[in-house]
Amino acid sequence: MIRIGIPSALLYYQYYPLWKTFFEELGAEVVVSPPTTQAMLAEGSARVVADTCLPVKVFLGHVLSLVEKCDWIFIPAVRSVENKVYNCSKFLGLPDMTKAVIPESPPILEIDIDINKGKGELYRAIYKLGRHFTWNPVSIRKAGLVAWQTYLNYRELMSSHGLTPPQAIERISGTRKVEPEVASNHPTSARATIALIGHPYLIYDEYINHRLIHRLEQTGNRVLTPEIVTSQELKSAVTRITGGAYWTYEEEVVGAGGHYLQNGADGVIGVMAFGCGPDSLMMDTVRRQSARLRTTPFMCLTLEEHTAETGVVTRLEAFTDMIYRKKRKETEVCV
Ligand code: SF4
Repeated sequence: MIRIGIPSALLYYQYYPLWKTFFEELGAEVVVSPPTTQAMLAEGSARVVADTCLPVKVFLGHVLSLVEKCDWIFIPAVRSVENKVYNCSKFLGLPDMTKAVIPESPPILEIDIDINKGKGELYRAIYKLGRHFTWNPVSIRKAGLVAWQTYLNYRELMSSHGLTPPQAIERISGTRKVEPEVASNHPTSARATIALIGHPYLIYDEYINHRLIHRLEQTGNRVLTPEIVTSQELKSAVTRITGGAYWTYEEEVVGAGGHYLQNGADGVIGVMAFGCGPDSLMMDTVRRQSARLRTTPFMCLTLEEHTAETGVVTRLEAFTDMIYRKKRKETEVCV
């Protein structure tokens, strides 16, 4: 059986169930890289120039960890998933960059996703990918349809059950444990409700963000993330603030930020990577919106490979203390 390696970094959190289903329907075995470690980050960083963004260094570390474990590595070039909305240039050149800096990598299975070229071109790209496994177009079409339905179920699981991508992936794979209800997940018993906004590869990679969600929940807070908000709500927040998205995945930042600044959160934390061009613009848009509204405190956490755990803890404590004080004052005024 052909083994396809999928690095659990970058777009993994958005599309893993879709990719896995597609390859398994075509008879392949899927191998996923383990969670990020210091060694993986160091090895990935050593392959590129210093000012490459942290998530790309992490991604290369994941590819390196798969080198001996699979026959092919799947690395899509996602240019655009919406008309006239474009992705960061790092995603466009990801397969080529990986080939250049990791020559020992197994052959790369790539696909160009660019919705601006029309649906016909997209279907041709999917068939081209599927032909690595079978020449039967009916089997490829069926695999594509089953994979798309799995993706829709995955999105639905997150938005209607309030699951994070790692939790939804566990649920879909049948490995999710039945967890006891956590007191802090109830809006009424939580000390504060904190919304995290940003790309999933920053919010859910526990190594690079120093277990951000865990830390907030451990201190009695309820955590909200972009996936819990419906796609329509995210889109309408982006339209309200910027008039319309320019960047792919803008909804995870501007959409979620705009939504949570006005709905259901006591504070909003933006998580971005140092040196990220698109995020520096998008986070600034959210910051300015927060200053305009003056309703919900906003803090931006910028991560890089040298970000110290104590620095993250100090900033989190300062931000949450300020929110607790604000909530106490509001309660006193009401009493
Ligand atoms: S959007 Fe930013 S963090 Fe993500 S890959 Fe591009 S430069 Fe890196």
